[in-house]
Amino acid sequence: MKIIITGGGWAGCSAAYAARIQGAEVVLLERTDSLLGTGLVGGIMRNNGRFTATEEMIAMGGGEIFRIIDKTCRHTNISFPGHEHASLYDIAKTPTAVANYLKEIGVLVKLQERVIKAQAEDGVIKSVETSKGTVYEGDAFIDTTGTAGPMHNCSKYGNGCAMCVLRCPSFGGRVSLAGLCGVHEITGQKANGTKGAMSGSCKLYKESLAPEIVDTLNQKGVAVIPLPEEFIENHLSVKACQQYALKEFAENIILLDTGHAKLMTPFYPLEKLRRIPGFENARYEDPYSGGKGNSMRYFNMSPRTNDLKVDGMKNLFCAGEKAGLLVGHTEAIVTGVLAGYNSTRFLKEKPLLILSRKTAIGEAIAYVGEEMQTEEGLGKKYTFSGSVFFDHMKKLDLYRTDINEIRENVEKEGLLNIFAS
Ligand SMILES: Cc1cc2nc3c(=O)[nH]c(=O)nc-3n(C[C@H](O)[C@H](O)[C@H](O)COP(=O)(O)OP(=O)(O)OC[C@H]3O[C@@H](n4cnc5c(N)ncnc54)[C@H](O)[C@@H]3O)c2cc1C
Repeated sequence: MKIIITGGGWAGCSAAYAARIQGAEVVLLERTDSLLGTGLVGGIMRNNGRFTATEEMIAMGGGEIFRIIDKTCRHTNISFPGHEHASLYDIAKTPTAVANYLKEIGVLVKLQERVIKAQAEDGVIKSVETSKGTVYEGDAFIDTTGTAGPMHNCSKYGNGCAMCVLRCPSFGGRVSLAGLCGVHEITGQKANGTKGAMSGSCKLYKESLAPEIVDTLNQKGVAVIPLPEEFIENHLSVKACQQYALKEFAENIILLDTGHAKLMTPFYPLEKLRRIPGFENARYEDPYSGGKGNSMRYFNMSPRTNDLKVDGMKNLFCAGEKAGLLVGHTEAIVTGVLAGYNSTRFLKEKPLLILSRKTAIGEAIAYVGEEMQTEEGLGKKYTFSGSVFFDHMKKLDLYRTDINEIRENVEKEGLLNIFAS
Protein backbone atom coordinates (compact mmCIF):
# COMPACT_ATOMS: atom_id res chain seq x y z
CA MET A 1 0.00 0.00 0.00
CA LYS A 2 1.62 3.24 -1.09
CA ILE A 3 -0.12 6.43 -0.06
CA ILE A 4 0.94 9.86 -1.28
CA ILE A 5 -0.19 12.83 0.78
CA THR A 6 0.00 16.32 -0.70
CA GLY A 7 0.24 19.11 1.91
CA GLY A 8 2.03 18.90 5.25
CA GLY A 9 -0.26 21.01 7.46
CA TRP A 10 -1.98 19.49 10.51
CA ALA A 11 -4.34 17.51 8.27
CA GLY A 12 -1.53 16.03 6.15
CA CYS A 13 0.66 15.15 9.16
CA SER A 14 -2.27 13.42 10.87
CA ALA A 15 -3.29 11.55 7.72
CA ALA A 16 0.34 10.38 7.37
CA TYR A 17 0.39 9.11 10.97
CA ALA A 18 -2.96 7.30 10.65
CA ALA A 19 -2.07 5.63 7.33
CA ARG A 20 1.39 4.64 8.56
CA ILE A 21 0.13 2.92 11.72
CA GLN A 22 -2.15 0.86 9.47
CA GLY A 23 1.00 -0.44 7.77
CA ALA A 24 1.07 1.69 4.62
CA GLU A 25 4.16 3.10 2.96
CA VAL A 26 3.55 6.85 3.26
CA VAL A 27 5.10 9.80 1.44
CA LEU A 28 4.19 13.28 2.67
CA LEU A 29 4.90 16.07 0.18
CA GLU A 30 5.10 19.63 1.48
CA ARG A 31 5.61 22.75 -0.63
CA THR A 32 7.58 24.79 1.99
CA ASP A 33 10.56 24.04 4.22
CA SER A 34 8.52 23.06 7.32
CA LEU A 35 5.56 21.00 8.37
CA LEU A 36 2.34 22.31 10.01
CA GLY A 37 1.19 24.87 7.39
CA THR A 38 -0.96 27.54 9.03
CA GLY A 39 -0.35 25.64 12.30
CA LEU A 40 3.12 27.25 12.32
CA VAL A 41 1.45 30.39 13.66
CA GLY A 42 -1.55 28.88 15.49
CA GLY A 43 -1.52 27.22 18.88
CA ILE A 44 -4.98 27.26 20.47
CA MET A 45 -6.16 23.76 21.37
CA ARG A 46 -8.81 22.13 23.56
CA ASN A 47 -10.94 25.30 23.86
CA ASN A 48 -14.67 24.59 24.35
CA GLY A 49 -15.86 21.64 22.20
CA ARG A 50 -12.35 20.99 20.89
CA PHE A 51 -11.72 19.33 24.26
CA THR A 52 -14.47 16.79 23.49
CA ALA A 53 -13.21 16.14 19.94
CA THR A 54 -9.63 15.68 21.18
CA GLU A 55 -10.65 13.19 23.86
CA GLU A 56 -12.93 11.34 21.42
CA MET A 57 -10.00 10.89 19.03
CA ILE A 58 -7.77 9.68 21.87
CA ALA A 59 -10.47 7.13 22.85
CA MET A 60 -10.77 6.09 19.19
CA GLY A 61 -7.05 5.20 19.25
CA GLY A 62 -5.96 7.98 16.86
CA GLY A 63 -4.71 10.46 19.44
CA GLU A 64 -0.93 10.33 19.13
CA ILE A 65 -0.69 13.76 17.46
CA PHE A 66 -2.74 15.28 20.30
CA ARG A 67 -0.46 13.62 22.85
CA ILE A 68 2.57 15.22 21.17
CA ILE A 69 0.86 18.63 21.24
CA ASP A 70 -0.09 18.22 24.91
CA LYS A 71 3.62 17.77 25.65
CA THR A 72 4.67 20.94 23.77
CA CYS A 73 2.11 23.25 25.39
CA ARG A 74 3.27 26.48 27.03
CA HIS A 75 -0.02 26.87 28.92
CA THR A 76 -2.86 24.50 29.75
CA ASN A 77 -6.39 24.90 31.08
CA ILE A 78 -6.62 28.65 30.56
CA SER A 79 -9.68 30.82 29.89
CA PHE A 80 -10.16 33.90 27.73
CA PRO A 81 -13.40 35.63 26.65
CA GLY A 82 -15.91 33.02 25.44
CA HIS A 83 -13.38 30.17 25.70
CA GLU A 84 -12.70 27.67 28.49
CA HIS A 85 -10.06 25.04 29.27
CA ALA A 86 -7.77 26.02 26.37
CA SER A 87 -4.17 24.92 25.83
CA LEU A 88 -1.58 26.92 23.88
CA TYR A 89 1.16 25.01 22.12
CA ASP A 90 4.65 26.36 21.59
CA ILE A 91 4.98 27.40 17.94
CA ALA A 92 8.73 26.71 17.92
CA LYS A 93 8.83 23.26 19.56
CA THR A 94 5.69 21.71 18.06
CA PRO A 95 6.71 21.52 14.36
CA THR A 96 9.99 19.80 15.30
CA ALA A 97 8.27 17.37 17.67
CA VAL A 98 5.78 16.36 14.94
CA ALA A 99 8.46 16.06 12.25
CA ASN A 100 10.59 13.86 14.55
CA TYR A 101 7.64 11.61 15.38
CA LEU A 102 6.67 11.12 11.72
CA LYS A 103 10.27 10.25 10.89
CA GLU A 104 10.43 7.83 13.82
CA ILE A 105 7.38 5.87 12.63
CA GLY A 106 8.75 5.75 9.09
CA VAL A 107 6.80 8.39 7.15
CA LEU A 108 8.90 9.70 4.26
CA VAL A 109 8.62 13.49 4.54
CA LYS A 110 9.70 15.41 1.45
CA LEU A 111 9.97 19.18 1.94
CA GLN A 112 10.03 21.78 -0.83
CA GLU A 113 8.10 19.40 -3.08
CA ARG A 114 5.17 21.35 -4.53
CA VAL A 115 2.75 19.19 -6.48
CA ILE A 116 1.87 20.87 -9.77
CA LYS A 117 0.66 17.99 -11.99
CA ALA A 118 -1.38 14.83 -11.57
CA GLN A 119 -1.73 11.88 -13.89
CA ALA A 120 -5.29 10.61 -13.55
CA GLU A 121 -7.53 8.41 -15.69
CA ASP A 122 -11.19 7.49 -15.08
CA GLY A 123 -11.08 9.00 -11.59
CA VAL A 124 -7.95 7.07 -10.60
CA ILE A 125 -4.76 9.01 -9.84
CA LYS A 126 -1.62 7.14 -10.83
CA SER A 127 1.02 9.70 -9.93
CA VAL A 128 1.73 13.30 -9.03
CA GLU A 129 4.61 15.46 -10.20
CA THR A 130 6.29 18.25 -8.25
CA SER A 131 7.81 21.51 -9.52
CA LYS A 132 11.25 19.84 -9.28
CA GLY A 133 10.06 17.32 -11.87
CA THR A 134 9.97 14.38 -9.43
CA VAL A 135 7.16 11.90 -10.05
CA TYR A 136 5.55 10.05 -7.12
CA GLU A 137 3.47 7.00 -7.97
CA GLY A 138 0.93 5.75 -5.45
CA ASP A 139 -2.09 3.51 -4.88
CA ALA A 140 -4.12 6.10 -2.98
CA PHE A 141 -3.73 9.86 -2.58
CA ILE A 142 -4.82 12.39 0.03
CA ASP A 143 -5.30 16.07 -0.71
CA THR A 144 -4.47 18.15 2.38
CA THR A 145 -3.36 21.28 0.54
CA GLY A 146 -5.58 23.56 2.67
CA THR A 147 -7.50 26.53 1.34
CA ALA A 148 -5.20 29.53 2.02
CA GLY A 149 -3.97 31.85 -0.72
CA PRO A 150 -2.30 31.81 -3.18
CA MET A 151 -1.26 35.46 -3.43
CA HIS A 152 -3.69 36.44 -6.17
CA ASN A 153 -6.63 35.40 -3.95
CA CYS A 154 -5.25 37.51 -1.07
CA SER A 155 -4.94 40.47 -3.47
CA LYS A 156 -8.30 40.00 -5.14
CA TYR A 157 -10.43 39.18 -2.08
CA GLY A 158 -8.35 40.59 0.82
CA ASN A 159 -6.06 43.57 1.40
CA GLY A 160 -3.14 42.27 -0.68
CA CYS A 161 -0.45 39.69 0.11
CA ALA A 162 0.14 40.17 3.84
CA MET A 163 3.45 38.25 3.76
CA CYS A 164 2.30 35.41 5.98
CA VAL A 165 3.97 32.21 7.09
CA LEU A 166 2.85 30.40 3.91
CA ARG A 167 5.53 32.36 2.01
CA CYS A 168 4.05 31.95 -1.49
CA PRO A 169 6.68 34.18 -3.18
CA SER A 170 9.49 31.88 -1.95
CA PHE A 171 7.91 28.44 -2.36
CA GLY A 172 5.15 29.02 -4.91
CA GLY A 173 1.48 29.26 -3.99
CA ARG A 174 -0.92 26.52 -2.93
CA VAL A 175 -2.00 24.14 -5.72
CA SER A 176 -5.04 21.94 -5.17
CA LEU A 177 -4.53 18.27 -6.05
CA ALA A 178 -8.29 17.71 -6.49
CA GLY A 179 -8.32 20.77 -8.77
CA LEU A 180 -5.50 19.29 -10.87
CA CYS A 181 -7.70 16.21 -11.34
CA GLY A 182 -10.56 18.36 -12.67
CA VAL A 183 -12.77 18.15 -9.55
CA HIS A 184 -15.24 21.01 -9.44
CA GLU A 185 -14.35 22.71 -6.16
CA ILE A 186 -16.29 24.87 -3.72
CA THR A 187 -15.45 28.33 -2.38
CA GLY A 188 -16.68 29.76 0.91
CA GLN A 189 -17.91 33.28 1.31
CA LYS A 190 -18.29 36.06 3.86
CA ALA A 191 -21.67 37.04 5.26
CA ASN A 192 -21.87 39.79 2.58
CA GLY A 193 -21.44 37.23 -0.21
CA THR A 194 -17.84 38.09 -1.21
CA LYS A 195 -15.42 35.17 -1.59
CA GLY A 196 -13.10 33.66 1.04
CA ALA A 197 -12.50 34.73 4.62
CA MET A 198 -9.60 36.49 6.30
CA SER A 199 -7.43 34.72 8.87
CA GLY A 200 -8.31 35.97 12.31
CA SER A 201 -5.11 36.48 14.27
CA CYS A 202 -1.70 38.14 13.97
CA LYS A 203 1.48 37.46 15.87
CA LEU A 204 3.49 40.21 17.56
CA TYR A 205 7.14 39.88 18.50
CA LYS A 206 6.61 39.34 22.23
CA GLU A 207 9.78 41.13 23.32
CA SER A 208 8.65 44.28 21.48
CA LEU A 209 5.89 44.74 24.11
CA ALA A 210 6.16 46.37 27.55
CA PRO A 211 7.77 44.10 30.22
CA GLU A 212 4.56 43.96 32.30
CA ILE A 213 2.59 42.61 29.29
CA VAL A 214 5.34 40.05 28.61
CA ASP A 215 5.29 38.97 32.28
CA THR A 216 1.50 38.52 32.25
CA LEU A 217 1.73 36.48 29.05
CA ASN A 218 4.53 34.29 30.36
CA GLN A 219 2.78 33.63 33.65
CA LYS A 220 -0.89 33.43 32.69
CA GLY A 221 -0.84 32.78 28.95
CA VAL A 222 -3.42 35.55 28.37
CA ALA A 223 -3.42 39.34 28.54
CA VAL A 224 -6.63 41.35 28.06
CA ILE A 225 -6.05 45.07 27.54
CA PRO A 226 -9.21 47.22 27.34
CA LEU A 227 -9.20 49.70 24.44
CA PRO A 228 -10.39 53.30 24.70
CA GLU A 229 -13.34 54.01 22.32
CA GLU A 230 -11.19 55.68 19.62
CA PHE A 231 -8.92 52.62 19.34
CA ILE A 232 -11.71 50.11 18.68
CA GLU A 233 -11.39 48.59 15.18
CA ASN A 234 -14.15 46.19 14.25
CA HIS A 235 -13.02 43.57 11.72
CA LEU A 236 -15.14 40.79 13.19
CA SER A 237 -17.31 40.15 10.11
CA VAL A 238 -14.38 39.33 7.77
CA LYS A 239 -12.87 36.75 10.14
CA ALA A 240 -12.45 33.10 9.20
CA CYS A 241 -12.62 32.09 12.86
CA GLN A 242 -16.07 33.22 13.83
CA GLN A 243 -15.68 31.68 17.30
CA TYR A 244 -13.64 34.79 18.14
CA ALA A 245 -16.06 37.24 16.49
CA LEU A 246 -17.33 38.32 19.90
CA LYS A 247 -17.50 41.98 20.92
CA GLU A 248 -14.84 41.42 23.62
CA PHE A 249 -12.34 40.80 20.78
CA ALA A 250 -13.07 44.26 19.31
CA GLU A 251 -13.25 46.15 22.60
CA ASN A 252 -10.02 44.73 24.04
CA ILE A 253 -6.63 43.73 22.80
CA ILE A 254 -6.56 40.01 23.58
CA LEU A 255 -3.11 38.45 23.50
CA LEU A 256 -2.27 34.76 23.93
CA ASP A 257 1.21 33.37 24.54
CA THR A 258 2.23 30.80 21.94
CA GLY A 259 5.87 31.94 21.90
CA HIS A 260 4.74 34.96 19.93
CA ALA A 261 2.07 37.24 21.39
CA LYS A 262 -0.95 36.07 19.40
CA LEU A 263 -3.15 39.13 18.76
CA MET A 264 -6.72 37.96 18.28
CA THR A 265 -7.74 40.22 15.40
CA PRO A 266 -7.21 39.78 11.62
CA PHE A 267 -5.19 43.03 11.39
CA TYR A 268 -4.68 46.25 13.31
CA PRO A 269 -3.01 49.43 11.93
CA LEU A 270 0.55 49.58 13.28
CA GLU A 271 0.66 53.34 13.85
CA LYS A 272 -2.50 53.14 15.90
CA LEU A 273 -1.26 50.06 17.81
CA ARG A 274 1.94 51.92 18.77
CA ARG A 275 -0.13 54.70 20.37
CA ILE A 276 -1.52 52.23 22.95
CA PRO A 277 0.48 52.19 26.22
CA GLY A 278 2.75 49.13 26.30
CA PHE A 279 2.72 48.72 22.49
CA GLU A 280 5.00 51.68 21.60
CA ASN A 281 7.61 49.38 20.00
CA ALA A 282 5.24 46.67 18.74
CA ARG A 283 6.16 44.85 15.54
CA TYR A 284 4.45 42.12 13.58
CA GLU A 285 6.00 38.68 13.18
CA ASP A 286 3.14 37.12 11.22
CA PRO A 287 1.90 38.30 8.88
CA TYR A 288 4.59 40.93 8.39
CA SER A 289 1.91 43.27 7.06
CA GLY A 290 -0.44 42.57 9.99
CA GLY A 291 -1.07 46.31 10.16
CA LYS A 292 -2.93 46.07 6.87
CA GLY A 293 -4.32 42.60 6.27
CA ASN A 294 -4.01 38.85 6.67
CA SER A 295 -4.10 35.70 4.55
CA MET A 296 -7.33 34.79 2.76
CA ARG A 297 -8.71 31.25 3.10
CA TYR A 298 -11.57 28.90 2.19
CA PHE A 299 -10.99 28.67 -1.55
CA ASN A 300 -11.07 25.33 -3.42
CA MET A 301 -12.72 22.96 -0.95
CA SER A 302 -13.48 19.47 -2.25
CA PRO A 303 -16.95 18.00 -2.53
CA ARG A 304 -16.70 14.79 -0.51
CA THR A 305 -18.67 12.11 1.28
CA ASN A 306 -18.54 11.57 5.04
CA ASP A 307 -15.81 8.95 4.66
CA LEU A 308 -13.74 11.86 3.22
CA LYS A 309 -13.44 10.40 -0.27
CA VAL A 310 -13.49 13.15 -2.91
CA ASP A 311 -16.60 13.04 -5.12
CA GLY A 312 -15.91 11.79 -8.63
CA MET A 313 -12.52 10.28 -7.72
CA LYS A 314 -11.84 6.65 -6.85
CA ASN A 315 -8.56 6.82 -4.92
CA LEU A 316 -8.46 10.42 -3.66
CA PHE A 317 -9.31 11.43 -0.08
CA CYS A 318 -9.22 14.86 1.55
CA ALA A 319 -9.00 16.35 5.05
CA GLY A 320 -8.61 19.58 6.98
CA GLU A 321 -9.85 22.80 5.42
CA LYS A 322 -9.83 21.02 2.08
CA ALA A 323 -12.71 18.85 3.39
CA GLY A 324 -14.93 21.84 4.11
CA LEU A 325 -15.51 24.96 6.09
CA LEU A 326 -13.92 23.47 9.20
CA VAL A 327 -11.67 25.90 11.06
CA GLY A 328 -8.87 24.77 13.32
CA HIS A 329 -6.01 22.44 14.11
CA THR A 330 -8.21 20.01 16.03
CA GLU A 331 -10.62 19.88 13.09
CA ALA A 332 -7.71 19.28 10.66
CA ILE A 333 -6.20 16.57 12.88
CA VAL A 334 -9.40 14.53 13.39
CA THR A 335 -10.34 14.64 9.70
CA GLY A 336 -6.71 13.87 8.80
CA VAL A 337 -6.79 10.71 10.92
CA LEU A 338 -10.04 9.56 9.29
CA ALA A 339 -8.78 10.25 5.74
CA GLY A 340 -5.48 8.45 6.45
CA TYR A 341 -7.28 5.45 7.94
CA ASN A 342 -9.85 5.26 5.13
CA SER A 343 -7.17 5.45 2.43
CA THR A 344 -5.79 2.17 3.85
CA ARG A 345 -9.28 0.62 4.17
CA PHE A 346 -9.80 1.43 0.49
CA LEU A 347 -6.58 -0.37 -0.46
CA LYS A 348 -7.45 -3.35 1.74
CA GLU A 349 -10.83 -3.43 -0.07
CA LYS A 350 -12.68 -3.00 3.22
CA PRO A 351 -15.73 -0.77 3.74
CA LEU A 352 -14.80 2.83 4.47
CA LEU A 353 -15.45 4.13 7.98
CA ILE A 354 -18.07 6.83 8.56
CA LEU A 355 -18.04 8.04 12.16
CA SER A 356 -21.31 7.90 14.11
CA ARG A 357 -23.20 11.18 14.35
CA LYS A 358 -23.52 10.44 18.05
CA THR A 359 -19.90 11.58 18.37
CA ALA A 360 -18.89 15.25 18.06
CA ILE A 361 -16.40 14.38 15.29
CA GLY A 362 -18.89 12.32 13.25
CA GLU A 363 -21.55 15.00 13.62
CA ALA A 364 -19.13 17.78 12.57
CA ILE A 365 -18.10 15.98 9.38
CA ALA A 366 -21.70 15.17 8.40
CA TYR A 367 -23.18 18.54 9.44
CA VAL A 368 -20.59 20.62 7.58
CA GLY A 369 -21.05 18.45 4.49
CA GLU A 370 -24.79 19.20 4.57
CA GLU A 371 -24.36 22.90 5.33
CA MET A 372 -22.00 23.30 2.38
CA GLN A 373 -24.83 22.31 0.05
CA THR A 374 -26.66 25.54 0.95
CA GLU A 375 -25.93 29.15 0.01
CA GLU A 376 -26.40 30.24 3.63
CA GLY A 377 -24.15 27.48 4.97
CA LEU A 378 -21.32 28.55 2.65
CA GLY A 379 -21.27 31.92 4.42
CA LYS A 380 -20.46 30.35 7.80
CA LYS A 381 -17.45 28.60 9.36
CA TYR A 382 -17.64 25.56 11.61
CA THR A 383 -15.52 24.63 14.61
CA PHE A 384 -15.91 22.63 17.80
CA SER A 385 -14.71 25.73 19.67
CA GLY A 386 -17.53 28.20 19.12
CA SER A 387 -20.09 29.86 16.90
CA VAL A 388 -22.75 27.79 15.08
CA PHE A 389 -21.29 24.32 15.44
CA PHE A 390 -20.49 24.58 19.15
CA ASP A 391 -24.10 25.73 19.74
CA HIS A 392 -25.28 22.78 17.64
CA MET A 393 -23.07 20.39 19.67
CA LYS A 394 -24.52 21.69 22.92
CA LYS A 395 -28.07 21.31 21.62
CA LEU A 396 -27.36 17.66 20.74
CA ASP A 397 -25.70 17.09 24.13
CA LEU A 398 -22.40 16.26 22.39
CA TYR A 399 -20.30 18.76 24.38
CA ARG A 400 -18.70 16.83 27.19
CA THR A 401 -15.67 17.51 29.38
CA ASP A 402 -15.68 14.31 31.46
CA ILE A 403 -13.04 12.09 29.85
CA ASN A 404 -14.61 8.86 31.16
CA GLU A 405 -18.00 9.86 29.78
CA ILE A 406 -16.45 10.68 26.39
CA ARG A 407 -14.71 7.31 26.34
CA GLU A 408 -17.91 5.46 27.30
CA ASN A 409 -19.78 7.20 24.47
CA VAL A 410 -17.06 6.26 21.96
CA GLU A 411 -17.23 2.65 23.20
CA LYS A 412 -21.03 2.62 22.92
CA GLU A 413 -20.71 3.65 19.27
CA GLY A 414 -18.31 0.72 18.65
CA LEU A 415 -15.38 3.05 17.96
CA LEU A 416 -13.05 2.37 20.90
CA ASN A 417 -9.46 2.12 19.58
CA ILE A 418 -10.76 1.75 16.03
CA PHE A 419 -7.85 3.71 14.50
CA ALA A 420 -5.26 1.65 16.38
CA SER A 421 -6.73 -1.73 15.44
C1 LIG B 1 -2.86 33.03 11.25
C2 LIG B 1 -3.65 31.82 11.64
C3 LIG B 1 -3.79 31.48 12.98
C4 LIG B 1 -4.53 30.36 13.35
N1 LIG B 1 -4.62 30.03 14.66
C5 LIG B 1 -5.27 28.89 15.04
C6 LIG B 1 -5.26 28.46 16.39
O1 LIG B 1 -4.66 29.07 17.26
N2 LIG B 1 -5.94 27.30 16.70
C7 LIG B 1 -6.60 26.58 15.75
O2 LIG B 1 -7.18 25.54 16.07
N3 LIG B 1 -6.61 26.98 14.44
C8 LIG B 1 -5.95 28.10 14.08
N4 LIG B 1 -5.93 28.48 12.76
C9 LIG B 1 -6.64 27.66 11.77
C10 LIG B 1 -5.86 26.40 11.47
O3 LIG B 1 -4.48 26.72 11.37
C11 LIG B 1 -6.31 25.70 10.20
O4 LIG B 1 -7.72 25.64 10.09
C12 LIG B 1 -5.78 24.26 10.12
O5 LIG B 1 -4.52 24.13 10.75
C13 LIG B 1 -5.75 23.87 8.66
O6 LIG B 1 -4.92 22.77 8.45
P1 LIG B 1 -4.79 22.09 7.00
O7 LIG B 1 -3.75 21.05 7.14
O8 LIG B 1 -6.12 21.75 6.49
O9 LIG B 1 -4.28 23.28 6.02
P2 LIG B 1 -2.95 24.17 6.01
O10 LIG B 1 -2.51 24.50 7.37
O11 LIG B 1 -3.27 25.30 5.08
O12 LIG B 1 -1.87 23.22 5.36
C14 LIG B 1 -1.83 22.96 3.99
C15 LIG B 1 -0.41 22.60 3.62
O13 LIG B 1 -0.37 22.18 2.27
C16 LIG B 1 0.78 22.73 1.63
N5 LIG B 1 0.53 22.75 0.19
C17 LIG B 1 -0.39 23.48 -0.50
N6 LIG B 1 -0.36 23.17 -1.82
C18 LIG B 1 0.59 22.22 -1.95
C19 LIG B 1 1.08 21.48 -3.07
N7 LIG B 1 0.57 21.65 -4.30
N8 LIG B 1 2.10 20.59 -2.88
C20 LIG B 1 2.61 20.39 -1.62
N9 LIG B 1 2.18 21.06 -0.53
C21 LIG B 1 1.16 21.94 -0.69
C22 LIG B 1 0.92 24.09 2.28
O14 LIG B 1 2.23 24.60 2.15
C23 LIG B 1 0.54 23.77 3.74
O15 LIG B 1 1.65 23.40 4.50
C24 LIG B 1 -5.17 29.58 12.36
C25 LIG B 1 -5.01 29.90 11.00
C26 LIG B 1 -4.24 31.00 10.64
C27 LIG B 1 -4.05 31.32 9.19
